[in-house]
Amino acid sequence: MRGSLRGLLAAAALCAVSAAIAADGELGPERAASLPIADIHFHAMAFMSPPDLVARMDARNIRWAGGAGAASAPPRLTGPQRDEEFQALLKDRYIRATGLSEIAFGYRDEHDPFFTGTDTPRQKSVLETLEGHLKEGTATSIAEVHVNSRTSAPLAVLNRKVPADSALMKKLMDLSARYQAPLSVHMQFDADSVQQLHGLLQAKPEGILVLAHCGKDTVAEQVRPFLQKYANVFCDLSFRSAPQENGRFPERIIFTRTSLDPAWRALIEEFPDRFMVGVDDVHSWGEYDRVVDSIRFGLLARLSPATAEKVASQNGVRLFRLK
Ligand SMILES: [Zn+2]
Repeated sequence: MRGSLRGLLAAAALCAVSAAIAADGELGPERAASLPIADIHFHAMAFMSPPDLVARMDARNIRWAGGAGAASAPPRLTGPQRDEEFQALLKDRYIRATGLSEIAFGYRDEHDPFFTGTDTPRQKSVLETLEGHLKEGTATSIAEVHVNSRTSAPLAVLNRKVPADSALMKKLMDLSARYQAPLSVHMQFDADSVQQLHGLLQAKPEGILVLAHCGKDTVAEQVRPFLQKYANVFCDLSFRSAPQENGRFPERIIFTRTSLDPAWRALIEEFPDRFMVGVDDVHSWGEYDRVVDSIRFGLLARLSPATAEKVASQNGVRLFRLK
């Protein structure tokens, strides 16, 4: 009994050692464990308090987080009020975005001209609010704008499909260009949405566009043309790993804690300056930890060392001007 237990422990130790060795050309788990991370697509959730978040970020070596807008904490606080709370404590470590709830709740239904109209009163008032945040420097990005989230919305109110090249989207790209503020767009890759996104990027080449979740329901081949054609398109790899998509849409998974899709790996290595990571929305600290582990050991550990450092934080630092 004792002998077999010792044998089992020795085998387990051997496994741990071999698991920590990097495959050829890859960063490997040991170095991935200690890379600082810029989490550029993160929603502070209702169950999180600002001090809890700081403690968790410190424990997991997440240097910056945000870039997508806080969730509201009803009945006490709205999303923007929660953003203020987190920003007050985290200071420059909180990537403050503007627009999530303003745009989510600005739109009512498919007959609403909020996206497609020109200078409607609601559109004007939302754009003024967003510009105010960017002008005074409280926010540095515009996010997260849902243009096609028909089967990928976390809330029923976001279950929508609107033109990706609508008048409002063009104005948001203008704001992005004027303040060098990344605009995060959540868009499932339906053929018509893809055409509209090309239209938006051709009309507004000066804005900075981040494809939230790298297009959400895409394969790598659908994203490559955008990276090839437009130097101002970036990709965040949030909500594309197993802890979040398991049991929901497994075909959307790009990486798990123990694997990385080879086609995506090739695309990331081909465009190492365009990809960033994000925890997005989670519903417990346990889930937060599992997502961070997937990012570190499933994704970053399997990239080349130079690419892993860019994806982990350097691209986010450059694009969001993080300090
Ligand atoms: Zn999100």
